Amino acid sequence: MQETTNISSLPERLAADTQLVKSYLDKIDAFQTDSLSAAEEADYKRRILDALASSGAKMVAHYYTDPVLQDLAEESGGFVGDSLEMARFGRDCDASTLIVAGVRFMGESAKILSPDKRVIMPTLEATCSLDIACPILEFSAFCDANPDRTVVVYANTSAAVKARADWVVTSSVALDIVEHLMERGEKILWAPDRHLGRYIRDTTGADMLLWDSACIVHEEFKARGLRDMRALYPDAAVLAHPESPAEVLAIADVIGSTTQIIKASQALPNSQFIVATDRGIFHKLQRLSPEKEFIVAPTAGNEATCRSCASCPWMGMNTLPTLLAALQELQVVEANDGLTNEVFVDAAVGERAMKPLQRMLDFAAANALKVRGKA
Ligand code: SF4
Repeated sequence: MQETTNISSLPERLAADTQLVKSYLDKIDAFQTDSLSAAEEADYKRRILDALASSGAKMVAHYYTDPVLQDLAEESGGFVGDSLEMARFGRDCDASTLIVAGVRFMGESAKILSPDKRVIMPTLEATCSLDIACPILEFSAFCDANPDRTVVVYANTSAAVKARADWVVTSSVALDIVEHLMERGEKILWAPDRHLGRYIRDTTGADMLLWDSACIVHEEFKARGLRDMRALYPDAAVLAHPESPAEVLAIADVIGSTTQIIKASQALPNSQFIVATDRGIFHKLQRLSPEKEFIVAPTAGNEATCRSCASCPWMGMNTLPTLLAALQELQVVEANDGLTNEVFVDAAVGERAMKPLQRMLDFAAANALKVRGKA
């Protein structure tokens, strides 16, 4: 079985990635706005709903965004979901403008799938540690060095990386697609999340060569703390996202994407759940099962050592003020003018990236997807 590997030496590359992620995180710390009073929040919400209605734009939000944005998306006739569902909704809805509350790769995916729609985000600064740690030049060299492998990339990548891939997958379809490729006798080059890659490799037995990066949120979940927590809540089911480390997944009752975690929380008889994914999802979990208790899985520990504490800092850059500012700009510019937070994807790159994205959507449409777990 192939080991995790990469073109440049691993310690060297990780040090560079760490620096890059740190510089983004420092920017985010400066970016965060103070919390709003109830009256200010209500005022923002009213103005945002008005702006969405008058512009005809549809808002699509990820489960990890602030609950107030998730509610706004649903109240305005938009959508809340995982990245696969967001991409589908954006493509299929009839609005000519999409507001994507999430992170940059989600905006790019929306633009790739709907090149004729205007796609804007509350801020283009909202990125992802996986996207940052998979730069196109290094990734291309990695692919060139392994020409006998089918290139499968996670959706959490840039448009350029997707354009270099044979398949794009989200966490909800990754296992099924790799199984499908394995049945066809294909060897796989996987990027960028090493934990998800390892989980798929261990589950399927596929021959996978892994890129080496991780989600800064899920990587902080700790098996030791989770075991302790389980002792405190012996009847709770553990639900984990596969971007979490292998030791955490080994304890989980159900491993799945955000949507699969939500479905499991509804289907299982347990009244308590320990959940190892971004805490933004708790809003939907609690709303769908108000009688159940959801407990966030332990991360690195205290505020001094935990940069994310189960809360993605980039998702947190989607705020009421940034959303309203993006909508207000939309109202004053001419149709042909570029907006500050408009997503553009080079047409040729977009066309190439569309193929592996479309392959995933076609596969997902043709196959009933499974929730994996011991529960
Ligand atoms: S939670 Fe992790 S994978 Fe998701 S956007 Fe944030 S850093 Fe990226």
